[in-house]
Amino acid sequence: MDDILAPRFIDPVAARKHLEALRWPEGPICPHCGSLNATRLEGKKHRDGLVQCNDCREQFTVTVGTVFERSKIALNKWLLCNHLLLSSKKGMSAHQIHRMLGVTYKTAWFMCHRIRAAMVPTDPTPLGGPGKIVESDEAFIGGKKRRRLSGKTAPKQKVVSLVERDGRARSFHVANINHNTLRAALVMNIDRASTLMTDDAGFYRIMGKEFAGHGTTLHAGNQYAKPGGIHSNTAENFFSILKRGVVGTYHHWSPVHLHRYLAEFDFRYSTKDISDRERADEALKGIAGKRLTYRRSYKLAA
Ligand SMILES: [Zn+2]
Repeated sequence: MDDILAPRFIDPVAARKHLEALRWPEGPICPHCGSLNATRLEGKKHRDGLVQCNDCREQFTVTVGTVFERSKIALNKWLLCNHLLLSSKKGMSAHQIHRMLGVTYKTAWFMCHRIRAAMVPTDPTPLGGPGKIVESDEAFIGGKKRRRLSGKTAPKQKVVSLVERDGRARSFHVANINHNTLRAALVMNIDRASTLMTDDAGFYRIMGKEFAGHGTTLHAGNQYAKPGGIHSNTAENFFSILKRGVVGTYHHWSPVHLHRYLAEFDFRYSTKDISDRERADEALKGIAGKRLTYRRSYKLAA
């Protein structure tokens, strides 16, 4: 793990400079008009990091138009929260973030969801490609007993994950697992020149023909791999991380927020071969254009 005592995690100005270096490698870009012609407003009169556009005259900082905009939380705490979430394989609970950052639980919960929102891909390129293999598999997530509700069990949520061998993962929360929901996920997200690996469920047989190749394994049998690399072990490995996350770290995922938790696990998995620091910086690059307000987030939860 990168040193959590690094200046950007302790000092708001160092944090702001770190974010600027990631978002504006060529210097400030006006979020209002896109101009590169801007002047930094230095001195005590101005708040830290304030910039004025010389074209539209608007003032801005590096957080305008990002998930950190108008936050009262110091930017170094945001960067530390981001780092903690990205550097632990199973994520980190809002309770732990709340203790480590010295913010309220509610604030920590909200910060984590904003950071997850930044991990939702906006313009995803298809998975796979010529000569590449993509595994598709389904899992049932959650379903933990709720103590307060007289032993009632929260329903399990259905998740479809597409996992490239030696590559990225992309997961979807679906209402049902059937031909229509699976085909929508597969055709929109996998390059048709890929070879698809699935179990032998009937609905895969038809859509498998839409790809360059299709390998199948037995759904419920003890046959995990056929000769010639026909298996879905990559997807199963992904699901085991996801399930350990829901059991060990998060305990319960509300269906309303599930897509953001999935984005978190997809993101970490897809960037597993780079360092914690690089992964945290990749996530920070995704913060633009994804504002998520407190009220909106709570409305979603209601
Ligand atoms: Zn401007």
